Amino acid sequence: MNYNHQNVFAKILRGEITSQKIYEDEEVLAFNDISQASKIHVLVIPKGHYQNYLDFVSNASENQVANFFKKVSMIVKMLKLDESGFRLIANNGDDAHQTVEHFHVHLLGGQKLGPLLTSDNKLR
Ligand code: AMP
Repeated sequence: MNYNHQNVFAKILRGEITSQKIYEDEEVLAFNDISQASKIHVLVIPKGHYQNYLDFVSNASENQVANFFKKVSMIVKMLKLDESGFRLIANNGDDAHQTVEHFHVHLLGGQKLGPLLTSDNKLR
């Protein structure tokens, strides 16, 4: 995969752009999405350079993949979303409207989220 080191999340990881950090360790960073789609809208990213979900799951080690998703669960609990519920979204590629080419998971919650697809993007 052709990872572009100028993508905005790479810049956040290098400290060239600030973010509202929720959690960080040696492998994972979580921060508020700049455009909040729900009361809680956090992006969780691995620190490794992976373009999208498929790149990450195919090319990161099994330990890294397992650790990433365990950290997502830990952040869910940290934000107290485990009982009320939450939604995870990983947009992958053009049809999914992925706009930042560094693998990330959207963690949405803190309110009723409604059905996954709105009337705008249901199959016509
Ligand atoms: P996606 O469409 O799945 O690629 O999502 C990319 C997300 O990154 C969008 O929800 C943007 O609002 C978010 N985003 C873009 N730039 C920043 C930034 N500087 N800090 C935090 N979130 C950002």
